[in-house]
Amino acid sequence: MNNPNSSTTAASDVKPEESVVSASNFLRDIIAEDLKSGKYGQSVQTRFPPEPNGYLHIGHAKAICLDFGLADEFSGHTNLRFDDTNPEKEETEYVDSIMEDVRWLGFHWEGLYYASDYFDQLYEWAVKLIKAGKAYVDDLSADEVRRHRGTLTEPGKESPYRNRSVDENLALFERMRAGEFPDGSRTLRAKIDMASPNVNMRDPVMYRILHAEHHRTGDKWCIYPMYDYAHGQSDSIERVTHSMCTLEFTDHRPLYEWFIRELGIFPSQQIEFDRLNITYTLLSKRKLLQLVQDKHVSGWDDPRMPTISGIRRRGYTSRAIRNFCAAVGVSRTNGTTDFAMLEHFVREDLNKTSPRVMAVLRPLKLVIDNYPEGQVEEMEAVNNPEDESAGTRKVPFSRELYIEQDDFREDPPKQYHRLSPGREVRLRYGYFVKCVSVKKNDKGEVVEVHCTYDPASRGGNSPDGRKVKATIHWVSAQHAIDAEVRLYDKLFTKPNPGEVEEGQDFTSNLNPESLEVVPAVKIEPSVRDAKSGDRYQFERLGYFCVDPDSTAGKLVFNRTASLKDTWAKIEKRG
Ligand code: ATP
Ligand code: MG
Repeated sequence: MNNPNSSTTAASDVKPEESVVSASNFLRDIIAEDLKSGKYGQSVQTRFPPEPNGYLHIGHAKAICLDFGLADEFSGHTNLRFDDTNPEKEETEYVDSIMEDVRWLGFHWEGLYYASDYFDQLYEWAVKLIKAGKAYVDDLSADEVRRHRGTLTEPGKESPYRNRSVDENLALFERMRAGEFPDGSRTLRAKIDMASPNVNMRDPVMYRILHAEHHRTGDKWCIYPMYDYAHGQSDSIERVTHSMCTLEFTDHRPLYEWFIRELGIFPSQQIEFDRLNITYTLLSKRKLLQLVQDKHVSGWDDPRMPTISGIRRRGYTSRAIRNFCAAVGVSRTNGTTDFAMLEHFVREDLNKTSPRVMAVLRPLKLVIDNYPEGQVEEMEAVNNPEDESAGTRKVPFSRELYIEQDDFREDPPKQYHRLSPGREVRLRYGYFVKCVSVKKNDKGEVVEVHCTYDPASRGGNSPDGRKVKATIHWVSAQHAIDAEVRLYDKLFTKPNPGEVEEGQDFTSNLNPESLEVVPAVKIEPSVRDAKSGDRYQFERLGYFCVDPDSTAGKLVFNRTASLKDTWAKIEKRG
C-alpha cells in the first residue's frame, strides 16, 4: 500500500502538534524508565491492535490516544495492526472504518499490518515449539478440553494425548494444516502446566481447525492461531517495545512472556491499564453489533451510538475526545466515568469553535403590529463571542417573526420572565417588544402573538434605561429556512445498562425516548449553504451539526449537546 494515511473522508480537527496524554501517567513513567536504562535502545514502538469485528468505540479512543500519544511523546512510532485471527467475524468494512476513525482522531500510523501477514511465521514457530517438546496435537474436543481445564481452585487434568512423540505431533500438525481433519476435531496446544494456578497456563490452545474463508488469506488456511498465540508474537515481529492493553489481559501476561521466551524472540513488554467505562453507555462491540443487527439504532454510526463514527456524526470533535481521554487518564483499577464529563469536553471545545446562529425549534408566530409592512432590516449579530476573529453577520428582521413556543406563556408562572400578555422582552440583536394581544385557534391554543415594538430600542437597549428581564431569540418568518432537527437523549435509562432483571438482557434498558425528531424547524438564512458535518450553536438551544441525511431542499441537524453543563457543577461541588 502506498501512503496509508493519505486518503481521508472525514478530516480531523486536531493539529499534529496538539498533545494528548494527561500530565501524570504510570505508562509514561515505565517508558521513560526503559529509555533511561536503555532496555530497548533509544526507540519506542507501540501498536494499536483492533480486531476487525466491529466499529471502534470511545473506549478504543482511549487506547488509541495512549498507543499513539505516548509513542509520539517519545518520538517513537505506532503501527496499526489488525488482529484478524477470527475469520468468521471479520470484514473489510470494519477494517476501512477503523482506519478512517484512527485518522479522524488525528493519528498517523507508521506501519499497517495484519496478524494474518504473520501466519506463515507463526506456523513455523509452532513447528519449532513442537520440535522442542513444548507443543502437542490434542484430539480432545473443545468440550473435553474445557472439562480437563479444572477451575480456579482445582488443577486441570492432562490430556491423554499430551505425551505424543515429536514426530507424531509434527505429522499430525502438518495434516491439520493440509485440511485432513474436520473443524474442532483437533487442536495444537502449548505444553506448559496443567496444575498452574493461572488457568491461562494450563496447556492453552494455540491453533484450532476452522475451514473458513479469511478476509485476506482466502482459503489458504484451515487452521487459525488463537489470540494468545498470535498477539505477542506479532508484537515481537514488529519489535513493539511497549504493548499496552486493558486489564483483562493481566492474567494472560505470563503466557505472552512464555511464548516469547521459549521462541527466543524480541522481548516485547505487555503493560495493562484500565478499560474506559462510561455511565449510560455500552462499550462492547458484541453488544453494539446486536443493537445494529436488531435495528435498535439506524446503524453503527447512529448518533446515539458510542462508536467513533456515531459520535462524529453527532458532532463531537476529535479534539474534544482527545481532551476527554487525557482528562480520564489511566489507572490500574477499572472504574466508571460519568457521561457528563464526556459532554463537558464536547461543550468546552464547541463553545470555542462553533458559530452562533438563531433557530426556532417549535415555532410560534410573532407579529409586530406597529412595524412597517414590507420593511426588512439587517441586524448585526456576533458570530462567536469566544472568538472575535469570527466577526459578525447580518440577520434579517421583519414584521413577522417566529419565536419558541416555550418563550411565551399566556398565564406565566411566578418565576417566568419571558413573553406574556402585557410583558416586554428583548429580541436578541433586535428590539424591545411588548405583547399586546394573542390570536387563538378553535381549540383555544395561541397561534399568534401580537406585539408592539419600541423603535428606539434597536440593537437591544432602550435610551430611557428601561430594563427587561428576558432576551429571546427569533427568526424572520419570510426569510427562515426549514430544517429537521433530531434531538438525542441517552440510549439507556440506567447508569449501568447491563443491570437487568433475570431473564432479560441490556436491550430492556433501552430508552424509548432517546430520539426525538422535530420536523419543522425555522433557522436564520445564514446557514442555507451548510454542509454535512458543519457545526453551530443554536443560541439558547445547544450545539448542532448538519447530518449527512440532509438534501438540497432540506437540512437535517443533530443536536450534539445541550448547553447545560452538569459536569462543571459536579466538579465545583468537588
Ligand atoms: P470489545 O470488548 O468492545 O469487543 P475488544 O477489547 O475486543 O473490545 P479490540 O479490537 O480487541 O476490542 O481492542 C483493541 C484495543 O483496544 C485493545 O488493546 C483493547 O485493550 C483496547 N480497548 C478495547 N476496549 C477498551 C476500553 N473500553 N477502554 C480502553 N481500551 C479498550
Ligand atoms: Mg479484544
